Amino acid sequence: MDCDLGDLGETSLTVNENIAPVVSPCRNIPFAFQKKVEAEIETLVKRKILIPVNEPTDWVSQMAVVQKPNGDLRICIDPRHLNIASKREHFKLPTLEAVMPQFINAKIFSKLDLKEAYWHVRLDEKSSLLTTMITPYGRYRWSRLPFGLSEQKNSEVSQPLRELTKKDCNFRWTEKCEGAFNKIKTMITNIPVLIFYNPDKKLKIQVDSSQHGLGAVLMQEGQPIEFASRALTPTEKWKPLNQAPRRLQNLLRSNHYDFSFQWVEGNSLHIADTLSRLCNQEEKQDEVFNICQTQIVDMPDPLLERIKQETDLDDTLSKLSKQIMNGWPQRKQDLHNTIKPYFDFADTLGLSNGVILKRERVVIPFSMPQEMKKNLHTAHIAYDGMMRRARQTIFWPGMADEIRQMAETCTACQERKPMNQRETLIQHDEGNVPWEKVGADLMEVDGRQYLVTVDYYSNFIEYDYLSTTTSQDVIRKLKGQFARFGVPKMLVTDGGPQFTSNEFLRFTRRWNITHIRSDPGYPRTNGKAEAAVKIMKNLILKTKHNGDDPYEGLLELKNTPRQCSGFSPAEMCPQKSPRTLIPSTSKCLSEHVVAEKKENY
Ligand SMILES: [Zn+2]
Repeated sequence: MDCDLGDLGETSLTVNENIAPVVSPCRNIPFAFQKKVEAEIETLVKRKILIPVNEPTDWVSQMAVVQKPNGDLRICIDPRHLNIASKREHFKLPTLEAVMPQFINAKIFSKLDLKEAYWHVRLDEKSSLLTTMITPYGRYRWSRLPFGLSEQKNSEVSQPLRELTKKDCNFRWTEKCEGAFNKIKTMITNIPVLIFYNPDKKLKIQVDSSQHGLGAVLMQEGQPIEFASRALTPTEKWKPLNQAPRRLQNLLRSNHYDFSFQWVEGNSLHIADTLSRLCNQEEKQDEVFNICQTQIVDMPDPLLERIKQETDLDDTLSKLSKQIMNGWPQRKQDLHNTIKPYFDFADTLGLSNGVILKRERVVIPFSMPQEMKKNLHTAHIAYDGMMRRARQTIFWPGMADEIRQMAETCTACQERKPMNQRETLIQHDEGNVPWEKVGADLMEVDGRQYLVTVDYYSNFIEYDYLSTTTSQDVIRKLKGQFARFGVPKMLVTDGGPQFTSNEFLRFTRRWNITHIRSDPGYPRTNGKAEAAVKIMKNLILKTKHNGDDPYEGLLELKNTPRQCSGFSPAEMCPQKSPRTLIPSTSKCLSEHVVAEKKENY
């Protein structure tokens, strides 16, 4: 034996060779646990349970950390990528997040500790390499079957016991029950530092900022579920944070959360306050801290396919891929010149199906920025808006400068300058619910008539071609839109003949819409729709100027985060349960009620 554990034999793990291996980026560890985690890894290396990896490996998983009841940490592997590729059904490993909420209502706990049970099973070398995981202290592989690599799903494990709880069941404690009981005991001994999210209980988010950083903690009943913190960038330090509560509220609202806001003294927010102060000020982070990891799986995407091919053909990016696979050297000067620029954010880089990711953003091969810039500008959005969109989705070195140049040299934009101030023309968000209050107006571009509708809350815009401007045609187009997005409670228009006819009155009555017409004396009542008309007119004329497709522009416009909220119209608009002609209270339209309803069945 080469380590201090028992030996229950050797096992091997097999993966489907047809599935592209995933090299995950390193996951951050909450500050409070960093020293402990490092010490635990050292111990495992000494015990030869973990083996440092210096050679390239196809698979790199992320590490997960849980706390045992006595406060010690347990190092696990997050197996979600391996699961996807695993050949045998019994190797489908439950991820921590998927499994643990099932234990919330567990009533019986055992103190019996089946200590380090899995570690008594050896892994052959090939399997061991598959379990390579990235940590902030380097890559390691497991010589023993690691925690996280469970053999069965929990629901399957507990099945024999749940049978016993059924009505009219003869209580017989079989061998099967005994086995399940023991297995569950082992699983329960992994009690995490963080409690599990319970969908039935209220959530509390504590957020705070200090001079140097931001901190947040997600809690239930005073116990933490997840921590997040990051240092402020130099520019952020000068920005007032007073927009932050509004942005958070918008985020919660757009996701249909039922919430209330409470302001408290900073020194009573112990956790968030501490996290915001503990941020490493030297830490380089240009994006919002993101603990989730990104993966590209499921349905093949022709665009990502092409990016993968171009990445392979790209000399620098293929070097970079290899570097991500092999791990990074200690010093920047040990790198090939072309990939030195990536060193400073190396731990944010990952590889998924041959596409390089910088956190959740796709790293664009050098043959493609021109195309990306063109597509980013299809709606002829100014530099700031293009950057807001780009920062969510794509990355290449020098991207910001190139995008600025693109925005400043577009001839269509030069010729129709006022378009760039578009956002100031638009009134700010109104209402609490998407598609509740909608404005509509007609527009004429190059002799063609269109109907434009806009949502007051999200700024989501739609347009339709009108063959005639009669009430009948306008109503037909509006019905089409309302069938897609739901019936608004309020419709704001001008006093045009299409909107004042008896036919239109019958329509708004039948569809239970409060129709507000702008008074001739106060034409600004319909300002929102007028602003939307300006946007669409410019979009159509500018795309036409370049021979482009206005629908591509509209699509990008909907996905571009807005300056005021930080969210795109599309993110804020989706109606999960659109309003129809059947009465419903506002509450019925929100998601959590749907969840409650399900429970009652
Ligand atoms: Zn332009």
